[in-house]
Amino acid sequence: MTSVNEAKQLNVDVVIFGGGIAGLWLLTRLRQAGFHTLLLETESLGAGQTRYSQGIIHGGTKYALTGKLTASSESIFTMPKIWRDCLEGKGQVDLSSVKILSEHQYMWSTPSLLSRLSGFFASRVVRGRMVAVNKNDRPAVFQNKKFKGKVYQLDEPVLDAGSVINALAGPNINNIMHIKNATGFSENNFTVEATNGESWNITAEKIILAAGKGNAGLLKQMGHVIPEMQLRPLQMVMVRGGLPEKLYAHCLGASANPRITITSHEDKQGTIVWYMGGQLAEEGIHRSKEEQIDKAKKELQSLMPWLNFTLMQWSTLNISRAEPKQKEGKRPATSFYYEDNNVITTWPTKLALAPNLADDVLKHLDKHQVTKSGYKDMPEFSHVEVSDLPWQEESRWM
Ligand SMILES: Cc1cc2nc3c(=O)[nH]c(=O)nc-3n(C[C@H](O)[C@H](O)[C@H](O)COP(=O)(O)OP(=O)(O)OC[C@H]3O[C@@H](n4cnc5c(N)ncnc54)[C@H](O)[C@@H]3O)c2cc1C
Repeated sequence: MTSVNEAKQLNVDVVIFGGGIAGLWLLTRLRQAGFHTLLLETESLGAGQTRYSQGIIHGGTKYALTGKLTASSESIFTMPKIWRDCLEGKGQVDLSSVKILSEHQYMWSTPSLLSRLSGFFASRVVRGRMVAVNKNDRPAVFQNKKFKGKVYQLDEPVLDAGSVINALAGPNINNIMHIKNATGFSENNFTVEATNGESWNITAEKIILAAGKGNAGLLKQMGHVIPEMQLRPLQMVMVRGGLPEKLYAHCLGASANPRITITSHEDKQGTIVWYMGGQLAEEGIHRSKEEQIDKAKKELQSLMPWLNFTLMQWSTLNISRAEPKQKEGKRPATSFYYEDNNVITTWPTKLALAPNLADDVLKHLDKHQVTKSGYKDMPEFSHVEVSDLPWQEESRWM
């Protein structure tokens, strides 16, 4: 007689830890390619950085501001086209159900910066990617007579991160298990305790770590010392109530990083929320919540003095970007994967770069002739939910 808690055995070609954008995009592509694949998630799908992302499918234009483009950073230029094909249902994954928040991003500059940026606007990188917008075609906030800067339109869509997670998870849900933990790693085997109390012995030819910040703990459990991870913390700001319209725009600052990046979302009641990152969020890690809100109010008031920001409701949230370690903690140029002894550690470094990461990992698996067992039914696993988006969580607004 078998005991209730006796571990069941499951053999797969590839197992993925983490159900953020990296894990879910990989799961989709690997299954399409014929790899029998299982994804393990400890919280809910998107629970890491993905649900906090602004959903911008960067084409890299804002990074061209440094004028230091490397060959690898150019991989990001192709991302908007790859995502647009997926959004139209004719790409490598089907994102036809995804909510497109905006077809374009805008970039605006204050008058004082315009002369310094003339070289940037004339550069090879920018030509064809960014067009100046006539006054009447600008977002309404920049049609005010008091606005003296310039507005450019970038060919970079903004997506609702929740609908991206749903679109990727839906067709793969039977291959995802909700777990409490994984233990007993030994070569290609380990044991997981599922949230429904089941215990599974898992054997996989390759183990992919796509657990964002969680990769560090998993690597340690497996006795790996490389690759090392870095965390880049942010204090993002949210504001709602009385906003004039939805806005998707970067304000150019004096450095490579935008002074502020605004995307727009809706809370549970359908009220517009501006979600703000950029330099405001990077420098905001040294401020208290109250100081950060005060800074954001002053920043918006100085950039849009014709609007009144005094009566709105504000909130901030702290979240770190998890990435491969770089010299001086710099921003990595592209997505990352590294294999050591059948364990492939990944960090997409951007939502937008998930397709690039999946391409690289697939090429790597093919090169190493990893088994493709083809389509196989999975047993019924402990079910995992999709995370709420931060602006929809009423408790954050208290
Ligand atoms: C505030 C913010 C805004 C951003 N905006 C943008 C943007 O506009 N555009 C863009 O391109 N990029 C953006 N990014 C970057 C982008 O969000 C991340 O690069 C991307 O979401 C990382 O995805 P991931 O799948 O690697 O990790 P995550 O999204 O962090 O997912 C990791 C998953 O692994 C799970 N997990 C953790 N530990 C374990 C474990 N031991 N076992 C199993 N599962 C585990 C977690 O619960 C989570 O679901 C932003 C990031 C932040 C923080």
